[in-house]
Amino acid sequence: MKKTRIGKLDLRVTEFCFGTLPMGPLQANIPLDYGAHLIRKAWDHGVNFFDTAESYQTYPYLREGLIDCSEAIIATKSTASTYEEMEKSIKKAQQELDRSLINIFHLHAARTTPTVFEERKGAFECLKDYKKKGFIQAIGISTHAVDVVEKAAEIPDIDIIFPIINIDGMGIIRGNTSTMIKAIQKAYLRGKGIYAMKVLAGGHCIDRIFDAIEFVRNMREISSIAIGVVREVELDFHLLNFNQQSVPKELLNQCLDRKQKKPILLNNFCRKCQLCIETCPSGAITMGSDRPSINYEKCIACGYCLPVCPEFNIRFA
Ligand code: SF4
Ligand code: SF4
Repeated sequence: MKKTRIGKLDLRVTEFCFGTLPMGPLQANIPLDYGAHLIRKAWDHGVNFFDTAESYQTYPYLREGLIDCSEAIIATKSTASTYEEMEKSIKKAQQELDRSLINIFHLHAARTTPTVFEERKGAFECLKDYKKKGFIQAIGISTHAVDVVEKAAEIPDIDIIFPIINIDGMGIIRGNTSTMIKAIQKAYLRGKGIYAMKVLAGGHCIDRIFDAIEFVRNMREISSIAIGVVREVELDFHLLNFNQQSVPKELLNQCLDRKQKKPILLNNFCRKCQLCIETCPSGAITMGSDRPSINYEKCIACGYCLPVCPEFNIRFA
């Protein structure tokens, strides 16, 4: 599979980045050995780039799937704010992934504003220190907001940006597809490495899967595209598609056949704390007269609302 240098670093990543979010306990919760098998199969077929996060709880899949694959490039992220919290996150990633070097470590900042770098100064300083010590190769930020991409473009210590971008502009905060593309171009011209998330907008673009992927793939600024995989047919699809090979109709139909899981508000024990509303990066949850409700037209199936609910009132189904 074609590899591209990402940013100014000595890292060459495959065009397809294996996204692990949907396989984990927040969403599909597939068995460990099956998830590890998918990851290993991707590696064996030339995929060298894997995306995870502390909050996805998918480190065990990567550890099992990438045993003896020290060359695999792993990007992870943490929502830590302070130095101590980030240090804990780095050590957890090292231990649970069973590797001392983490290739890319992001500030996990889906819904933040450009002040994130001041608000989470301690966490950012920690990433810089661990990069100096040789435990991290690149520092990044993952975000859904156009102005955060613009700000990150101006910060010398940011090596990599992981923005949301898709053909419909779904989930983009304080902007749209066009303004996000401009922000990405600015970041690229300043030497930032960029890979894209949510190109299928949490399943909304699945009926236009080829166009949706090509739309982002044709952007020279984007080195790689992270797409979540939970089934072997999906992996087979991406291996063929990213290798410029034709996809048999039957395989395509099997891929499209999956019902995209969505968050469901059970409303059994809702205490109306609004944490889910504050957390949702897409503004998909609003408070109704007596309980929250989800607008599925806006939901990008990121799963971020699940772990914040103190009443375990949100499930993926
Ligand atoms: S409702 Fe939940 S899953 Fe959907 S976009 Fe918001 S946080 Fe993500
Ligand atoms: S986070 Fe949970 S308890 Fe709080 S408003 Fe949302 S559903 Fe209700």
